[in-house]
Amino acid sequence: MLTAVDAVVVGAGLSGLVASRRLQRAGQRVRLLEARSRVGGRMVSTTTPHGAVVDLGGQWGGLSHRRFAALLEELALTTVPSHYAGQGVFVWQGRRVVAPLAGDFAHSLLFFEPEALGLPSDQLAATQQLQRAFADLVARVNPAQPWQTPNAEQLDRLSVAAWARQHTAIPLARLPLDWLCRVGGSGGFEPWEASILHLAWTQAVAPQAEGPEAWLVRGGAGQVPQLLVEALEAGDPGCVQLRQAVVTISQDAEGVSVATADGRLHQAKAAIVAVPPQLRLAIRFAALADGRHDQDPDGLCTTLLARAGPQRARDRRPARARTDGRQRSS
Ligand SMILES: Cc1cc2nc3c(=O)[nH]c(=O)nc-3n(C[C@H](O)[C@H](O)[C@H](O)COP(=O)(O)OP(=O)(O)OC[C@H]3O[C@@H](n4cnc5c(N)ncnc54)[C@H](O)[C@@H]3O)c2cc1C
Repeated sequence: MLTAVDAVVVGAGLSGLVASRRLQRAGQRVRLLEARSRVGGRMVSTTTPHGAVVDLGGQWGGLSHRRFAALLEELALTTVPSHYAGQGVFVWQGRRVVAPLAGDFAHSLLFFEPEALGLPSDQLAATQQLQRAFADLVARVNPAQPWQTPNAEQLDRLSVAAWARQHTAIPLARLPLDWLCRVGGSGGFEPWEASILHLAWTQAVAPQAEGPEAWLVRGGAGQVPQLLVEALEAGDPGCVQLRQAVVTISQDAEGVSVATADGRLHQAKAAIVAVPPQLRLAIRFAALADGRHDQDPDGLCTTLLARAGPQRARDRRPARARTDGRQRSS
């Protein structure tokens, strides 16, 4: 089967849904192809047998979620503040300490008043020194063009773990960075899986100090993809297609051809690939001789543009959790 539209969008997570919404609003005919039997990707809610909504993926927002907050307003959804008060439990090397939460993340040790944790002073000093070194690096990163950061190439070849080891051998000192990688607003990846430039970039774009977990969507963030699909389908019934895993994208002078695993072929002037870098590796890009890979300037998704200029050298590098992927991989 062959379908011709203005643009094919691959992946119905938040990025693909928002890209489709923008295109449709600009008067373009869009086909949004999703591999799974549901939309939302990593933003999904479920309901317990007692009727409570539980978000299973993306859910918290804060100051740096400006575009997401604007989208919620458009969709007439509201937020509730996250609970953050009182005392927390800090467990380190088998020792458990109950201590007050700090008001200011930037001067805390993982949300705690550092001095309240009873840690050895030399270890605490090394931890604060490494946090300052990381903050200095974050301040040097250009959020819009991280590859323009001084020594960008070198920093993008150095893992978070290797960079931290260059500064200190004290395990406690590395804990805040490890947390940012695995759990915090930058995550989830292991400290040896991403470059220090990538981690610094995530913090330049959405600093943990700005409280990216400040609020939740009332009724669950999983409503967002559902409402976006409803609006897309209202504008163009059949626009969103599930169980359509894209396997190949090829390009010629007319535009792009997008093939799915069940043998369907969609033709369009352009395709937007809005899937995480790891999953993008499963798509074969064929005959892109006069096309190029590029990135949405908003950093929302990876795009493949038809009939554009020659492919740039940096676009041919493998996609991984590196900063020029400009995609958060949690
Ligand atoms: C547990 C968890 C908690 C999180 N918490 C937060 C949070 O509190 N705040 C926050 O800001 N972010 C959070 N995130 C991150 C946030 O959820 C993601 O950044 C965001 O949802 C990613 O959206 P996306 O559209 O870019 O990618 P995805 O949601 O991954 O969407 C990609 C879509 O593409 C589809 N796809 C993949 N390959 C193909 C193919 N070949 N053909 C067709 N379709 C394909 C996938 O099935 C998927 O639906 C969290 C993530 C997780 C996992």
